[in-house]
Amino acid sequence: MIRIRFHGRGGHGTKTASRVVGTAAFLSGYQAQDSPYYGAERRGAAVVAYTRVDEAPILERGAIDQPDLIVVADETLLDAADAQVLSGQSTASAIFVNAQDAGPLKENFGIAPPVVAVDLTTLTLEILGSASALSSGLAAAAAAMSGIIVQEHFVAALREEFAQLGLEREETEKNVQVGVRVFEQISPVEIHAPSTGMEIEMATVSYENPLLSTPSVLHAGNAEARPTGTWRVERPVVDPDICTRCGLCFVRCPDGAIALDEDGFPVIDYDHCKGCMICQQICPLRAIESKKETRAW
Ligand code: SF4
Ligand code: SF4
Repeated sequence: MIRIRFHGRGGHGTKTASRVVGTAAFLSGYQAQDSPYYGAERRGAAVVAYTRVDEAPILERGAIDQPDLIVVADETLLDAADAQVLSGQSTASAIFVNAQDAGPLKENFGIAPPVVAVDLTTLTLEILGSASALSSGLAAAAAAMSGIIVQEHFVAALREEFAQLGLEREETEKNVQVGVRVFEQISPVEIHAPSTGMEIEMATVSYENPLLSTPSVLHAGNAEARPTGTWRVERPVVDPDICTRCGLCFVRCPDGAIALDEDGFPVIDYDHCKGCMICQQICPLRAIESKKETRAW
């Protein structure tokens, strides 16, 4: 069995990527299983998805804590404590990261397996016009690294999955273009000691008081303690020469990350702005510009 674990942020297409790889593996004659894991996350929050591929029926379920391949949609996830991207890296034969350069990542983040890096963000911006529509590139990276999926089946899976999502044909074909570009530049990885099955172990789940097992948010103002600014791949920047101080962005920011200064100009709290860019879309004067977060590129 090959176990692939995808890490991304809400809006990256992480779940779709895992699904495309599962479908491509199925079209290539394998058994496949794919499943996302996300709770009450918002756009930009860490998301994980799993794909298992095997020749035999897959009886294993749940999270993959010993992955053979790890696929990372955004290098800022590598040091995000809540994402746990590198957990179980000792079993991984390789890690794919959407980044310009694999070199510094190994040292900076203590990554043991070989790192494969492709700058998906620039590619998707160029072809799809979006920095965050990464599903086809992530799926291509995983499919190519697995070494068991042929390009023809990968492309067929992309078209099938995007059709199910209701994507226009033109958009689907742009995704195919991204997928093929990535697929063709990544070589298969030698997956060391892939397992062929597993012992089935039944877990006994004990009952816990709901307040312990599903913790509630009980204290007001706790959002301040969560630095959602690390989620951001785009940074909103207000141009004070254009801004008319209408206050719309202040009202509409879903995270309350915009305050107004004493003159009524919006001031963005970058420790908590998650980069959803709703403020940019809502601004009637187009006074908010999107800047790339350099570490995400
Ligand atoms: S400041 Fe803008 S980009 Fe940041 S969280 Fe608020 S609406 Fe989203
Ligand atoms: S919505 Fe635009 S014009 Fe209005 S306060 Fe915000 S930045 Fe200024």
